[in-house]
Amino acid sequence: MKIILVGIQGSGKSTQGNLLRDKLGVPYLSTGHIFREIAKEKTTLGRYIKETMTAGYLIPDKKTNEIVSDYLERPEYEKGYILDGYPRTYAQAKAFKNGIDKVIYLDVPDKEALWRLAFRTNENGEVREDETLAAIKKRIELFHKFTEPVLEYYKTKGKLVTINGEQSIEEIHKEIMDKLNK
Ligand code: AMP
Repeated sequence: MKIILVGIQGSGKSTQGNLLRDKLGVPYLSTGHIFREIAKEKTTLGRYIKETMTAGYLIPDKKTNEIVSDYLERPEYEKGYILDGYPRTYAQAKAFKNGIDKVIYLDVPDKEALWRLAFRTNENGEVREDETLAAIKKRIELFHKFTEPVLEYYKTKGKLVTINGEQSIEEIHKEIMDKLNK
């Protein structure tokens, strides 16, 4: 099963992605995580990605498409995956031809997501370097501009499932499973 998770930062994609991974037995991956790994490399690409992420801007489509398609060729993703953070622009959606089953949109108002992110830290209790208020606001702005057309694209293909992301973690998970007929 191939599932895409869409939502603004703070909408609960990774929480739900991990729950789905455990239930469905397919791997979960996020492009944000992939890019954060590349950003640690002391290469021209690593430095470029770090700067772009820290500002909250998007990595250009061509580079993103290349990196994601390379990743998805790995054998562990052959049977399916839960993909968070991609496609994020209309051009990425058009280029992505992987036989997606469903696109799950976690709908959370901007204000609610900002509130949740104000208290978020990583597993070591640190604030993530690319999670400054300015970068988060920029990401939310870019979501409305570039990612809403992706939702429309999958809606016309009959693949979009919209979930109210303001419910409890368990309620959201249950609704996703119901909509996937699982
Ligand atoms: P995220 O953790 O999903 O919020 O992603 C963090 C950052 O990684 C974003 O602000 C972008 O700089 C970059 N990124 C992640 N996914 C994509 C994508 N599909 N297209 C372009 N840039 C991306």
